[in-house]
Amino acid sequence: MTDSFPAFLDRRLETLAPEALRRHQWERLRALALAAVPANPFITAQWQWAGLAGPDDLRGWDDFRRLPLTRKSELVEDQAAHPPFGTNLSYPLERYVRVHQTSGTTGAPLRWLDTQESWEWWARCWGFVLRGAGLGPGDRVFFPFSFGLFVGFWAGFEGARALGALAIPGGGQDSAQRLAAMETLGATAVCCTPSYALHLAEVARERGVALERLGVRATVHAGEPGAGIPAVRARIEAAWGARAYDHAGMTEMGAYGFECAARAGLHVNEAEFIAEVIDPATGRPAEEGELVLSNLGRLGSPLLRYRTGDRVRVAREPCECGRSFLRLDGGILGRVDDMLIVRGVNVFPSALEGIVRRFAAVDEFVIEVYRRGELDEVRLLLEVTENAMPVVAAVQEAVRVDLGIRVEAVPVPGQSLPRYELKARRLVRRSSE
Ligand SMILES: [Zn+2]
Repeated sequence: MTDSFPAFLDRRLETLAPEALRRHQWERLRALALAAVPANPFITAQWQWAGLAGPDDLRGWDDFRRLPLTRKSELVEDQAAHPPFGTNLSYPLERYVRVHQTSGTTGAPLRWLDTQESWEWWARCWGFVLRGAGLGPGDRVFFPFSFGLFVGFWAGFEGARALGALAIPGGGQDSAQRLAAMETLGATAVCCTPSYALHLAEVARERGVALERLGVRATVHAGEPGAGIPAVRARIEAAWGARAYDHAGMTEMGAYGFECAARAGLHVNEAEFIAEVIDPATGRPAEEGELVLSNLGRLGSPLLRYRTGDRVRVAREPCECGRSFLRLDGGILGRVDDMLIVRGVNVFPSALEGIVRRFAAVDEFVIEVYRRGELDEVRLLLEVTENAMPVVAAVQEAVRVDLGIRVEAVPVPGQSLPRYELKARRLVRRSSE
């Protein structure tokens, strides 16, 4: 099977022994240092801060760990001070061929440039993701995505092509047209956010389209952590009659996480990224905490020791797929700063989603958070198809049993909550009740 894949997807990279993997990363890091220091003002400033004068001062992993952690706010400030692209550029502007930007969910959008080489690197990283989902030449991968400035599915589209699969663009279409295109063109896989997969399932149901007969055997999900939540995954798989795979990536970092056939959490692609997990408060190494990443192949605009803001837990047992890449148990558990403290209990919105999605009668939901005195209070708005009150009461009871907290849950009319093609915003903070 490996023979039909392009050479860059050499399976041996995924199964390297730990020392060989570190050596591979080290060689890539050296190459990055030579390209970015001293040509790249942003990276060079970080090296100077760490007391490293040039690439030759990088002698061992201790030197790497002296580099400062990079925060998103620094990137935003750098772009504000040097508009529009900031100073994290290793080459003259004319070397760059792609521009994308973040969704701006948490503040001003961040713009990011890629060179030919780093755009090919993106495709390569997505090749790992799609192959992890068992896809390859002969597959037809549909992208129900509007192909705007958000990088995720552009890169996935390129990844499908690089892998030798047929990439089908689904831009400029509404959901019904997308369902028809998938059927006509014989799509075998779909890449979209978990929310949009559920939305397409809703549209199919309304139109009497039997989704499970379309022939889609895998769905690959990015943009939100949902596919790593068992109840969300089960719901997508039941609707599509396909296996759902989680994926994690960021505009400023790259496509770093993917699931294999075992679907035992996210693998971090350590052939292309260095992963660290730290205690977000102290910065010390931790088994559960904030994921810190460095990318090794985006030489034109690299990021070293970047605080992703994602909370993860390291799985230590080897994966049955044989990959030696780091595995994150349960995928992305939530955003470090999204954690709610409800009556003294730490609660991630993803935990609430995991409960709500177990109830088939709930089509959509919103988590409202507001302050009552000094406390966070949560109210769940549930869009329930029929028999609302018993369902609402059952959700409340499940939250109480599973998480040990009491939340208010209220039914809202069908189709009254927003649907999303990209990142869903189901957590709403209200200033007061
Ligand atoms: Zn695996």
